[in-house]
Amino acid sequence: MSQLAMVNDNIRRAAAILDLGARVEKLLLTPNREVKVEVAVELDSGEVATYTGYRIQHNDARGPMKGGLRYHPTVDAEEVTALSSLMTWKTAVVNIPFGGAKGGINCDPATLSSRELERLTRKFVSNIKEIIGPNVDIPAPDVNTNAQVMAWVMDEYSRFYGFSPAVVTGKPIDLHGSLGREEATGRGVAYITADLLADLGTPLQGTTVSIQGFGNVGSFAALFLHQMGAKVIAVSDAYGGLYRADGLPVLDLFDYARTQRTIVGFSEAQAMAGDDIFAVPCDVFIPAALGGVLDAERAKALPAKVVIEAANAPTTPEGDAILQQRGLPVVPDILANAGGVTVSYFEWAQNIQQFRWDGERVNQELKSTMAKAYRDVRQLAHSRQISLRTAAFVLALGRVAKATVMRGI
Ligand code: NAD
Repeated sequence: MSQLAMVNDNIRRAAAILDLGARVEKLLLTPNREVKVEVAVELDSGEVATYTGYRIQHNDARGPMKGGLRYHPTVDAEEVTALSSLMTWKTAVVNIPFGGAKGGINCDPATLSSRELERLTRKFVSNIKEIIGPNVDIPAPDVNTNAQVMAWVMDEYSRFYGFSPAVVTGKPIDLHGSLGREEATGRGVAYITADLLADLGTPLQGTTVSIQGFGNVGSFAALFLHQMGAKVIAVSDAYGGLYRADGLPVLDLFDYARTQRTIVGFSEAQAMAGDDIFAVPCDVFIPAALGGVLDAERAKALPAKVVIEAANAPTTPEGDAILQQRGLPVVPDILANAGGVTVSYFEWAQNIQQFRWDGERVNQELKSTMAKAYRDVRQLAHSRQISLRTAAFVLALGRVAKATVMRGI
């Protein structure tokens, strides 16, 4: 099942529970606008290369559309559509005043120089400049894009429309970015893990955690959970895995991974194959890498007590059904990893206000936003006797449908 089919499955289930009717359901399934552009750039060699770029704007009923920009060879219209839809539900679950969008360029940034990447980004922005903007659609970083890429987006857009820092979030701190944005998704994952464990009556202190993926989200989730007293016993990345029964020295590993760009070779833990992460007995399993990794087979055998979806769409519907049968609580992606877009909203608000918040305020507001969203979802799941995932979609669809109807279809 494709990622888009998976997301649509969840929308249909929630729409049926809310009894929204076929017309509203169709409206919520269909993106508002799908833009595909050819991006031609001159390479350093003097040759011209062309790439395909997408910006898919799913829904703006609750506010300007918001969503990342992904540079990856597998980017295609269907993947971007699925991710744009997830953004609509994510912004609605945490109740920030945005809709959902996503963009991407089908390219392999590892083969491009920094100058080529800059030219590619500027050309893409100049191709889509009419459909983005601080009150329309606000891009952000995603896989293989970072603060530098966002700085180019801001600069290129500003060349046409005047100084516009609020057109994009995830910018460098020194260029109208927000304190706390880089680590926000991992921090939010840690907060949500603590909330779920508190609900289950399990102390965080000493709880064992395994994390697949040690990039931005996985490494910061590990760091904050470690600081909160959890024992991170296993991690993996695209190149391999690490295990240590008495808990990994997360601070050292964090520094090591920053400089080496992998966890492989870290000497203070036992090395293992990356996929062995699915076989490590733990209390909390956090997929923080790719989509579709928790399929039926892995879900059947996963030796964990709860799953916190830090990655987007890491669990297949078959895997999800099995985890549910097993009674394993799963905190869905649209809630668990919403910390990033929440602090992106704070960055946008600071840009609009032309006022900088201190880090303490950012983290406090993030914590209360995530806690409120978790409470809302848990309460709905409890009162309707549905999974946390279905509850999150019901909450989100309810909010978007209400805004749509109030604005007038
Ligand atoms: P990243 O590129 O910084 O890190 C990805 C990590 O996954 C890397 O450690 C990489 O080595 C690892 N990985 C790749 N293939 C793997 C494999 N087969 N097995 C194990 N590990 C593998 O990306 P990120 O920003 O940390 O994003 C991770 C996930 O979280 C993605 O699904 C992304 O869409 C989602 N997400 C990210 C943010 C954010 O703010 N960065 C927000 C919401 C959701």
